[in-house]
Amino acid sequence: MNHKAWVAKTAKQPMVLEDIDLGPLGSEDVEVAVEHCGLCHSDLSVLNNDWGISNYPAILGHEVTGRVAATGSNAKGVAVGQRVGIGWNSGSDMHCPQCMSGNHHLCPHVQPTIVGHRGGFATHIRAHWAWVFPLPEKLNVAEAGPLLCGGITIFAPLAMYAKPTDRVGIIGIGGLGHMAVKFAAAYGCDVTAFTSSESKFDEAKGFGANHVVSSRGADAVRKLAGSFDLLISTVNVKLDWDAMIGALAPNGRLHVVGAVLEPIPVAAFSLIAQQRSVSGSPTGSPAAIATMLDFAARHNVTPQNEHFPMSKINEAFARLESGKARYRIVLDADF
Ligand SMILES: [Zn+2]
Ligand SMILES: [Zn+2]
Repeated sequence: MNHKAWVAKTAKQPMVLEDIDLGPLGSEDVEVAVEHCGLCHSDLSVLNNDWGISNYPAILGHEVTGRVAATGSNAKGVAVGQRVGIGWNSGSDMHCPQCMSGNHHLCPHVQPTIVGHRGGFATHIRAHWAWVFPLPEKLNVAEAGPLLCGGITIFAPLAMYAKPTDRVGIIGIGGLGHMAVKFAAAYGCDVTAFTSSESKFDEAKGFGANHVVSSRGADAVRKLAGSFDLLISTVNVKLDWDAMIGALAPNGRLHVVGAVLEPIPVAAFSLIAQQRSVSGSPTGSPAAIATMLDFAARHNVTPQNEHFPMSKINEAFARLESGKARYRIVLDADF
């Protein structure tokens, strides 16, 4: 079979198109012909080796939608020709306590799709059958890719911690945050969008936010003291964390999904007296991803994407790096 992929040969260099040999298909594996693949900020972080975990040559791309091209002899749950998606993870050991209790994404041997595994900026990608998700009929396959990484990342804390009657704040209206607003609004919550960019106020309301607050300067945030049942932070920059925790209602939770590299200072007393929590989570389990896709199809939640042909992959990475993309980028396979 003729497989091609966009290959990152080393850190911070443009990707080049190459023929690749995926070898024999593993008995538990599924091969997917890629139609679209979202470009996520994590792809840029791995390209640049920002986290020190990258392996080169690397094939990036972990928000795949496409069709099943082949199945291993022991693969379950999908059939050749079926529309499917693949996200941040492509495998797990399937026998540890986490996998056996349905928390495969917390498996100590979980296999990220783009670190030590070949990702989706390619004609084909492979993954363990448990990590290949049938896409609901109603979901638009050209736009759904970013749900498989960014979407589950913000859906998981809503599903775990939010009630439809809650006041929920989404901090940062970007690739993750705009999907968080859409999901929280569809969930029925009273949604406040926090953004440092006034140019995004109207768009945030268009995504379903009931209120928009400037996250610049702590005054606006301090006025909201004691308000929120759940705050989800999607930003990767330092905030006035004290003001943010102060904005939580009793029993409220600040949940972090943005990879801010600086430590978050937390005063014990601000947690104790109001019984508040600070937490974080990575993407989500296979069951959570399937639930998220079903919910997104039912409520018509899709990310707002810019499209590039995959042959313009290096331009698309530059666009992402510029911070100007509104709000996600999807590459359409054109080999
Ligand atoms: Zn991602
Ligand atoms: Zn496991």
